Amino acid sequence: MEKMIIIGTGCAGLTAAIYAARANFAPLVLEGHEPGGQLSTTTLVENFPGFKDGIDGPELIMNMKAQSQRFGARFQFAGVSEFEPKENFVSVKIDDQWVDTQTLIIASGASARWLGLPNEKRLVGHGLTSCATCDGAFYRNVPVCVVGGGDSACEEASFLTRFASKVYLIHRRDTLRASKIMADRALSNPKVIPIWNSEPIEYLTDENGEVRGIKLQNLLLNQTSELEVKCVFVAIGHVPNTAPFKGKLDMDENGYLLQNGGTRTNVPGVFAAGDVADHVYRQAITAAGQGCAAALDAEHYMAGL
Ligand code: NAP
Repeated sequence: MEKMIIIGTGCAGLTAAIYAARANFAPLVLEGHEPGGQLSTTTLVENFPGFKDGIDGPELIMNMKAQSQRFGARFQFAGVSEFEPKENFVSVKIDDQWVDTQTLIIASGASARWLGLPNEKRLVGHGLTSCATCDGAFYRNVPVCVVGGGDSACEEASFLTRFASKVYLIHRRDTLRASKIMADRALSNPKVIPIWNSEPIEYLTDENGEVRGIKLQNLLLNQTSELEVKCVFVAIGHVPNTAPFKGKLDMDENGYLLQNGGTRTNVPGVFAAGDVADHVYRQAITAAGQGCAAALDAEHYMAGL
């Protein structure tokens, strides 16, 4: 029987791990299929308090992990595929093995949302990606496009101007959802060319099966056009990683876990923190705050408070 299992190693999971480890729970922290969460695929984080010149996302994550290990957190490269609430404890299936735990903190975050167009899965890694930080440098001096109108799309578009010859920013409306500072930064870059009121409807491929462009529908004019690009960067938001908990934990209609007093879920001993439960703020610092709260809530639960 574990005292505490934490699912996820983004800001929420690692902050929970620091607090739980310092409370002597020696939590078992599961790294999942995207270790480090969304910060591990970003560049400079300028809004995490305490770093006046900003800090690299991966560096921030590595620091948090090392900080938790210093106090006894244990890490395993594995994910949870199933979940069963029991009397006074819960069971999770880690790889192929069921493990019992007194408390569980779910901080499994959210993963990139895709457009749902034909051939999408096959094209990932062949001119289609959701991570500019990971793949941007492969596309030097060629045109690329970013799909989306939020902070992620603007951040990716600005970042890609370091490499690409042109960065088309394709948005389905004519105003960006992004914060003013991120929008201004992207749109003031001469390499960024916005394409408004347009939605991708097809990935175009060459004879080798690599992306050679994208077919767009102008939603106002109801016309289609083809745009030649070497890579499509999709940045249209995220979906929460809650599949193992469907039907067992309360969720909203989009699959986000519902919190019921602090970070508590509807199952005693199970807590939710960060983007897996938060579709409103979704910031590194709010996720970290929730991770702290989840560890404290779990500590109170174990103490019978
Ligand atoms: P988001 O704010 O949800 O924006 C998603 C964008 O994709 C929206 O513009 C949306 O269009 C568009 N979209 C959604 N589904 C689409 C579809 N099927 N086809 C075409 N377009 C579609 O997501 P995000 O940009 O990933 O940001 C998530 C959170 O992280 C936000 O809170 C953001 O502030 C934060 N963030 C912060 C930073 C930073 O501060 N450094 C960087 C990145 C992200 P509509 O606008 O029409 O809905």
